[in-house]
Amino acid sequence: MTSDGIFVDRVTLSYDGGQVTPVENISLAIPKGTVLAMIGPSGSGKSTLLRGIAGIEKPAKGDIFLNGEKISPKRQKIGFVPQNYGLLPWKSVEENILIGVRIKDSLNGDVLSKMNEFMENLGILEFRHRFPKEISGGQQQRVSLARAFLLNADALLMDEPFSALDAITREETQDVFLSLWKKQKITTLFVTHDVEEALYLGQRIVVLSNEGKILRELDNPFFGNREDKLQEEFFKMRSKIRELIQKAGSDK
Ligand code: ADP
Ligand code: MG
Repeated sequence: MTSDGIFVDRVTLSYDGGQVTPVENISLAIPKGTVLAMIGPSGSGKSTLLRGIAGIEKPAKGDIFLNGEKISPKRQKIGFVPQNYGLLPWKSVEENILIGVRIKDSLNGDVLSKMNEFMENLGILEFRHRFPKEISGGQQQRVSLARAFLLNADALLMDEPFSALDAITREETQDVFLSLWKKQKITTLFVTHDVEEALYLGQRIVVLSNEGKILRELDNPFFGNREDKLQEEFFKMRSKIRELIQKAGSDK
């Protein structure tokens, strides 16, 4: 397999010795430098698939490739942004941002000045010595994003990263993600259960069925554009995806 980006090749993921198989024979390609949004009913295997790609769960069948080689969290840089921000509670904001680069790269003056630039741009510089519990959820998620982008990961996996945030903070943090991503086009798989978020942040959108299969893959003309939300075409696409998810969820 030589193509660049993330390539999921006929992957099956099971729990409990094969008794539960939330992901069955899925194939998926995310070309390098693009964002794919994945949406599907609760329990459709989205988190399982992300953990499979991250190397946390081992596929029962199939292979996962990143930039032409079998994906390896040891050899490659994989950023993971979970819903609960994934910060270490006993480390400061600054230390949390540096975790990835400490493991993967050497810490030098360039990295430190880049980190300061990130913290400044993301409005978290003044909190650099605080602990995660001493800052808000939106700020914690900015820390998590700063970590992934400072690492300049080969792949970024995001599991409903903004769903714990209130509506206004969520929109702000979506914009933070998008502005970071536009400068550093990390190959990204973005899981969400929010159709509008998928339409804002996914260049392509994949809808998963209840059985952990791909129900539909769509090109998204509304990527990165909030103004188009008032267009009829946007409403149509939003309704179409909602119907697909409802249908997928009721087939249980
Ligand atoms: P989603 O993220 O789409 O909501 P998950 O991937 O979390 O779905 O879960 C898919 C299915 O796998 C669910 O039925 C869930 O109960 C099951 N599952 C998830 N994690 C485990 C686990 N560690 N052990 C056993 N079953 C699990
Ligand atoms: Mg999940």
